[in-house]
Amino acid sequence: MPRIGLPMKVAVISIGDELMYGETVDSNFTVIAGRLYDAGLPVAVHLTVGDDREEIARALVYLAREHEVIIATGGLGPTSDDLTAAAAAEASGCPLQLSGAALEHIRQVAGRWGAEVPPANEKQALVPAGATLIDNPDGTACGFIVPLGRCRSIFLPGVPREMARMLSASVLPLLAPMAGGKTYLTKVFMVFGPSEAELETLLASLDSADSGVSVAYCVAFPGIQVKLRAFGESEPPVVSRLESAARLVRDILGDRIVAEDGESLDTVIAGLLRSRGETLSLAESCTGGLLAERITDLAGCSAYFLEGVVSYANAAKERLLGVSPLLLAERGAVSADVAIAMAEGSRRSSGSDHALAVTGIAGPDGGTPEKPVGTVFIAVADRDGCTATRHQFTGDRHAIRSMTTFTALNLLRLRLMKGKTERHP
Ligand code: ATP
Ligand code: MG
Repeated sequence: MPRIGLPMKVAVISIGDELMYGETVDSNFTVIAGRLYDAGLPVAVHLTVGDDREEIARALVYLAREHEVIIATGGLGPTSDDLTAAAAAEASGCPLQLSGAALEHIRQVAGRWGAEVPPANEKQALVPAGATLIDNPDGTACGFIVPLGRCRSIFLPGVPREMARMLSASVLPLLAPMAGGKTYLTKVFMVFGPSEAELETLLASLDSADSGVSVAYCVAFPGIQVKLRAFGESEPPVVSRLESAARLVRDILGDRIVAEDGESLDTVIAGLLRSRGETLSLAESCTGGLLAERITDLAGCSAYFLEGVVSYANAAKERLLGVSPLLLAERGAVSADVAIAMAEGSRRSSGSDHALAVTGIAGPDGGTPEKPVGTVFIAVADRDGCTATRHQFTGDRHAIRSMTTFTALNLLRLRLMKGKTERHP
């Protein structure tokens, strides 16, 4: 399927030395591109330039030739390295001029903070003559719009929170009517298990030229996102094309789909535990609390999460989880039997409905020929019993711990889903 058609050519410029030096991740672009796409206005070109007046002006002039809209972020601050307004003046041929309204805005915002306006901030009231101001409810720097020939160039501050609010409140309402009424929809599946190549083979039937739906794969370690995109003149057929493609994906991938759209593995587990009114406890060795961190990252987790134990030393496994010293001596701390004993011990001592336990060798040291670095045992226990699985992960310590955490949570999800269908046929 060809790349989606563009109703209006929109370019984005991210401005700032910190972006050029790799010090700051350009999250502003991600936000702008995502929201524009959802509004039916996919970005055609994205440039990043440093805090250099001539470079910024050159980028503006270059993009204005081919695009109907430019959205620029960054460099509207009060310091001498904030040069975007001057560059906009240079590119548009409209000299900088003190805006009474912008100055009043600065005074008001500073007044809210209980501060005098420092002279440096007054610089933020200098905008190209004839510019239309964009309100910034959260900061001193107003945004502004300047025509560059037939291109409308829109300037927003770099502070992510300010930029995002202004984009939604002022910029998108202005641009939305230009989307030409086209509908762009995306459906995202988080998949765990198959590689990208395997997924492409599995979903080959979907990617035919006439389905009207494009498929993209995006690695989101340790899973892969499968993105279905559809666009068209009117919404109902786009929705129905996307839904029938989504049904096909669900049929083919089944429980290899971890989550859809706004959900994640963690929120899916939370939803399953909540809907069943059941509780969870954890016993962790090589993940050192990463599982507990993920579970407790969600607000309201106290409804289903009871406790987590980080039992690193053998003595801790014995004392906190009741793992038998004999078992530890005979099988070793990294074994299926010890993982099971940890999970069962966790269930017993916490009184939880479900327990998840992990024990493994995250490396770089500690591997043996029988149990090399990356060997991990994961056990899931509930009232019906306990099962342990052996895994061989690769990569460095960080990757092994991440894979272990994700895999353990996914095994819990599968167990909870199985229970769901068994108990509620
Ligand atoms: P301010 O009024 O705060 O000076 P500004 O428009 O001059 O706003 P910058 O000085 O460029 O913005 O950046 C302010 C903050 O926002 C910095 O912490 C910067 O790292 C961050 N920032 C700027 N651009 C981006 C971006 N594209 N993505 C993410 N963060 C950004
Ligand atoms: Mg800057």
